[in-house]
Amino acid sequence: MRKTIALAGNPNCGKTTLFNQLTGSSQKVGNWPGVTIDRKEGEIKKIDAIVVDLPGIYSLSPYSPEEIVSRDYLLYDNPDLVVNIVDATNMERNLYLTSQILDMGIPTVIALNMMDAVEKEGTEIDIEGMSRLLGCKVVGISALRGDGIDELIEAIDSAEEKPNPIALSNNSEKVIRQISEVLRGTVPDERLRWYAVKALERDSLAIEKIGDSWNQVSEFIEAYEKAEDDDSDSIVASERYEAIGKTVSSVLKSGRTPGEYTISDKIDKIVTNKWLGLPIFAGIMFIVYYISITTIGGWGTDWVNDVFFAEMVIPGTESYLESINVDPLLVAFVVDGLLAGVGAVLGFLPQMAVLFLLLVILEDSGYMARIAFIMDRVFRKFGLSGKSFIPLLIGTGCGVPGIMASRTIESERDRKITAMTTTFVPCSAKLPIIALIAGAWFDKSALIALASYFIGILAVLISGIILKKWPSLTGLPSEFIMELPPYRTPGPVAVIKSALSRVWSFVRKAGTFIMLACGIVWFLSAFDWSLALVDDINDSMLANLGNAVTWIFIPLGWGSEWQFTVGTITGLLAKENVIGTFGVLFGYADVAETGVEIWSIIASMVTPIAGFSFLVFNLLCAPCFAAIGAMRRELGTWKATGAAVLYQTTLAYSVSLIIYQIGTLLIYGTFGIWTAISVLVAMTMAYVLISKDPFGQYRKQSAEVTI
Ligand code: GDP
Ligand code: MG
Repeated sequence: MRKTIALAGNPNCGKTTLFNQLTGSSQKVGNWPGVTIDRKEGEIKKIDAIVVDLPGIYSLSPYSPEEIVSRDYLLYDNPDLVVNIVDATNMERNLYLTSQILDMGIPTVIALNMMDAVEKEGTEIDIEGMSRLLGCKVVGISALRGDGIDELIEAIDSAEEKPNPIALSNNSEKVIRQISEVLRGTVPDERLRWYAVKALERDSLAIEKIGDSWNQVSEFIEAYEKAEDDDSDSIVASERYEAIGKTVSSVLKSGRTPGEYTISDKIDKIVTNKWLGLPIFAGIMFIVYYISITTIGGWGTDWVNDVFFAEMVIPGTESYLESINVDPLLVAFVVDGLLAGVGAVLGFLPQMAVLFLLLVILEDSGYMARIAFIMDRVFRKFGLSGKSFIPLLIGTGCGVPGIMASRTIESERDRKITAMTTTFVPCSAKLPIIALIAGAWFDKSALIALASYFIGILAVLISGIILKKWPSLTGLPSEFIMELPPYRTPGPVAVIKSALSRVWSFVRKAGTFIMLACGIVWFLSAFDWSLALVDDINDSMLANLGNAVTWIFIPLGWGSEWQFTVGTITGLLAKENVIGTFGVLFGYADVAETGVEIWSIIASMVTPIAGFSFLVFNLLCAPCFAAIGAMRRELGTWKATGAAVLYQTTLAYSVSLIIYQIGTLLIYGTFGIWTAISVLVAMTMAYVLISKDPFGQYRKQSAEVTI
C-alpha cells in the first residue's frame, strides 16, 4: 500500500532541501519563515510513498496559521509516518517540536540534518544514543550534500512502531494519566496522550473533546498547579526543555562547550550590532545594487538594448516581415508595438538576473534573517512588530506572496497594517522602473535603488505610525521572536535554480501579459477615434485619454507629459507595463534608425527631480491589480481595500509633491502656489505623525453612527 509521509520541522531546518532530495522535484529554497506556507506534495518513487511538506513551525500550538495547518494535518489526515527534520546545529530548539510530535503517537523518523555543518564544527553526535532516548529512529543526514538519504528512505520504509513520548516529571505524568482516563473513547487511542497534554495546557481543541467532564479535569489541573505553584502550560514547557536539555547533553560527545562562541555568533556580534547593523545593511545593499544596476548588470543591459534588440532582433524581424510581404500595418504592430514594449522590459533582464542572483545568495547564506532581526529593533520604535518585516522581505520579490505572508502575524492590527503597506517596498516588477530612472537621469547610480528601498521602508514606518492611530487599528505590536539560523555557504545549484526561476517568471510575464498590454497601447497610440492612422502620436486616442487626466500630475512635475500618465495607469495592470508603455510610446524600436535611445528622450522631457518624483509616485501608489486582490483577501472587505488603495495613492501623491516642489525650490529656486501647498501638505503629515489622536473627530462620528 502507498504510504503517506509528512515532513515536519522548524523553519530553515532544511525541509525544502530534503523534500527535493526525496522527491527529485525542484522548488524554491527560501530562507525565512513564511515561504512554505502552502502544502507541497511529491513522490518517493523507490518505495511508493507520497511526501507532504508541512509548513515550518516551532511548535504545534495553534497560534499561527502554519501551526494550525501542520497540527491539523498530523491530527486528522492520518499520515502513516512523520519525518521530523531536526537541525543538528540547533538541537535544543528543534527538539521542542519533536517532543510534541512524539506525543501524537504517529510512527516517527527523525532526520537529523546538517550533519556536514556539525562535522565542520568538530562536534560528534551519538545518534544511536539519541534514538534510544527519544524512542524513535534517528538518521543523520545532510540534505544539502545528499548524504544519508538512502538510509533515511530505508528507515522510512521500515518504520511502523509508535514512538515513545518524552516523559515529563512524575507529577505531570500522573495528571496526564488522570486526564487520559476521562478522554478515553472520545479520541483515537494513539492520540490520547497528545490530547491529554493539550488539555493540561488548557487548549481549546482538547477542552472541546472533553465536553461535560471538563469541570472534573479542571479540578485535576488546579490541584496540580497548586502543588507545583505555576501555570500548567509553563510547567509542561519547562519540563519539555529540561528533558531535551538532558538528551542533548548526553548525546553531544565532544565539540564546543556551552558558552563558547561559534563563528556565526562572532559574525552576528558585528552584523547585528545596535549601531553597526543598519550601516552594514545599507553598505551591503549598495554593493548589491552597484554590481547589478551600475556595473556588471548595467553593462549587460546596455548590450541587450543597444546591440541585441537595436541591431539584431528589431531590424531582423522588421526586414524579415517585409521580405515576406507582410502588411506594413501588421509589421508596425509587431515591431513598434509588441517588440518595442517587450524589448524595453526585457532590456533590463541582465540587471534583474544579476540582482536576483545576489539576493538569493544573501537569503541562503542566512543574512536576510539578520536583517529581519535588525529591523525588528527599528520597527518596534515605530510601534510595529519585526514580524511585519518578513512580508516586506518577501515583498521585494513580489507583493502578492508578501501580502499573503502577513497572515503569519497573530495581531490583527499588525496583520492589516502590514497587508496595507507591504507594496511600498519595491517588488521586482518595479526594479526596471528604478533602473530606467537611474539610467535616464542619474547615470545609473546605485543610490537611486538604495533611495527607493529607503523611501519604501520609510513609507511603511510612517504608515505604521499613522494607521495605528486610526480608530479601528489601535493596539499593541505582537511579540517577535526571531531565531537566527547559523550562517551557511549557499549551495550553488540551489542558488542558480532559485535565481533562474525568478528570471524565468520575469521573462514569461513579459512575453505574455506585458506583450498583450503593449499591443493594446500601440493600437490606442496609432489610431484616432475614427480609427484612422495618425501621423503625430499626439493626435491618437491614447493621447486624448492621457491628456484628459494628466493635469492631475502637473504639480508632481511630470503631468505635462501625457505619456508619463499613461505609463502610470497601465502600470496598474502590472508594474512592468510602465516600461513597456514607454517602449511603445517613445519608439524603442526606432533606436536602430534614429540612434536615439528612449532613456535620453525621456530625460530631455522633464527635469531629474520630476523624474525622481515620477519614480516615487509609481513606487508608492496603488499596486498592481494582483496585489490589490491579495490585499482584499487579507483585509476582508472591498471597502477596507478601497480605503487602503486610497491611502496608498494619497501618500504617494503627497510624498511626490513634496519631493518635486521642495526639490525644485532648492535646486532651481522656483517658488509658486504649489510650493506653498506642498509645505502645507508636509505640515499636515507632520501633525498626523505627532498628534496623539488626529482622527478623534472620525472616532466621534463613527461612535454616533454605531449608537
Ligand atoms: P526550510 O525552510 O526548512 O524549507 O529549509 P531550506 O530547505 O530552505 O534550507 C534552508 C537553508 O539551509 C538553505 O540555505 C539550505 O541550502 C541550507 N541547508 C539545508 N540542508 C542543509 C544541510 O544538510 N547542510 C547545510 N550546511 N545546509 C543545509
Ligand atoms: Mg522551505
